[in-house]
Amino acid sequence: MDITIIGAGFSGTLTAVHLVRARSDIRVTLVERSGRFGPGLAYSTPDPSHLLNVPAGNMSAFDDQPSHFLDWARSADPSIHTGSFVRRSLYGEYIRSVLDAARSAHPDRIRLCHDEALRGRWDNGSWHVELRSGEALTSAALVLALGNTPPQPPPGADVRVFGHAGYVSNPWNVERLRAIDAGASVLLIGAGLTMVDAVLTLRDRGHTGPMTAISRHGVAPRTHRSPSKPPVGRRPPEALDRWDGSALGMLRILRAAVADGAAAGADWREAVNSIRTITPQLWSRMAETERSRFLRRLRSYWEVVRHRAAPEIGALIADLMAARRLKIRPARLESLAPAGAKLEARFRPRGSEQVQRMIVDAAINCLGPDTDLSRSADPLTRQLLDSGIVRTDALRLGLLADPEGRPLGADGRPVPGMIIVGPWRRAQHWEATAVPELRKQTLRAAGLLAGPSR
Ligand SMILES: Cc1cc2nc3c(=O)[nH]c(=O)nc-3n(C[C@H](O)[C@H](O)[C@H](O)COP(=O)(O)OP(=O)(O)OC[C@H]3O[C@@H](n4cnc5c(N)ncnc54)[C@H](O)[C@@H]3O)c2cc1C
Repeated sequence: MDITIIGAGFSGTLTAVHLVRARSDIRVTLVERSGRFGPGLAYSTPDPSHLLNVPAGNMSAFDDQPSHFLDWARSADPSIHTGSFVRRSLYGEYIRSVLDAARSAHPDRIRLCHDEALRGRWDNGSWHVELRSGEALTSAALVLALGNTPPQPPPGADVRVFGHAGYVSNPWNVERLRAIDAGASVLLIGAGLTMVDAVLTLRDRGHTGPMTAISRHGVAPRTHRSPSKPPVGRRPPEALDRWDGSALGMLRILRAAVADGAAAGADWREAVNSIRTITPQLWSRMAETERSRFLRRLRSYWEVVRHRAAPEIGALIADLMAARRLKIRPARLESLAPAGAKLEARFRPRGSEQVQRMIVDAAINCLGPDTDLSRSADPLTRQLLDSGIVRTDALRLGLLADPEGRPLGADGRPVPGMIIVGPWRRAQHWEATAVPELRKQTLRAAGLLAGPSR
């Protein structure tokens, strides 16, 4: 049985590993356009300041071997412990080592194909995938593991900005960030973890110019506890049994859980952590109008408390802010346009009707991965959407799919032989981004494709 997997970040790589372990007659072709097999976008960064935002003890690639990553990391550096936040590039090496181990254990069953998939077509009981090189792959099943997409264009951006030397559209291009003049004034659009990464890259390269981040709420990401502690395993709040499924109701329950916890000496993070494993069930209990309300009104607050930075990263950002080298302003960007060699940003500070103006040497788009695939310019995504093979969900979080990740086609039925793994499954689960969720998802997807073990 031949299976094609497109995308070799964490999701595609682990699905390949589980597939060859599941059945001895499965052969996988893993297609990756970057030529880097294993790390994907998150763990390819060469910047040593870019740390995991999950403690090492919870980053095993395998659900049934919780210390797998920790043991691997400690064999090279015994000072690493369960609460360490290690370099993301080290984690990329780990995923590559997991892939290499599977290839050695199952020789000739995982082919690494450095190429870009451009088109996919289901015909005569098989998937046919065209690659940029001209090669065509035929397989019984197709796994889409296309992962994190580039940020959406900033609101109000003049089209001329996209070709401007001062504008950085891809915040994960570390070399591009390092090429920004050290004394340049820099606008960071967005104030989440992507902004944090960009600021650290500039700082390490000796940036001296002023850095201003703007986001609607102007809230910097929260940090993990220091020293890091393993999650307490607190039970979800009992009030959830009586929850009415509304976004506001959820907010009230979580606030009460934080307050009750605080009265008993517990950290607010425990309340947030307590609903992590049941988030998909909670999400499924919300009607679309409530999900939409959550996305409009609460999403940015949720992201801030849920996706936390390593404590040492939080300290660096706090130092930069205290030294007034970095400002985070609550404001809405109204427009961004070239002003000769510089860029002019117009923005409205939160709570004010007055538009302010700022001239900067560089602007970096830190809006984070765009979940609205209908805006994608990626050839494969375009072809799959335009030909109606797959569809985006109404809230534009990913693709419409059944609970197992089989995308739903135009007729509302699962697309034959296709499965999605990774962040594109956000529409069904909401929580489908980080390794603790993806390691479960990839194992299940492989089990589904392989069927009963032979
Ligand atoms: C900057 C960043 C940091 C993160 N840090 C953490 C963390 O510390 N801990 C954590 O648990 N999670 C973290 N995450 C979440 C992260 O999304 C997951 O951990 C995981 O890396 C997602 O892997 P993926 O394979 O689904 O996607 P990706 O890593 O995005 O991989 C998708 C791959 O598909 C390839 N691809 C796409 N289209 C094609 C095509 N047409 N043909 C061929 N190849 C293609 C891309 O080149 C890419 O390599 C982070 C995310 C980001 C963006």
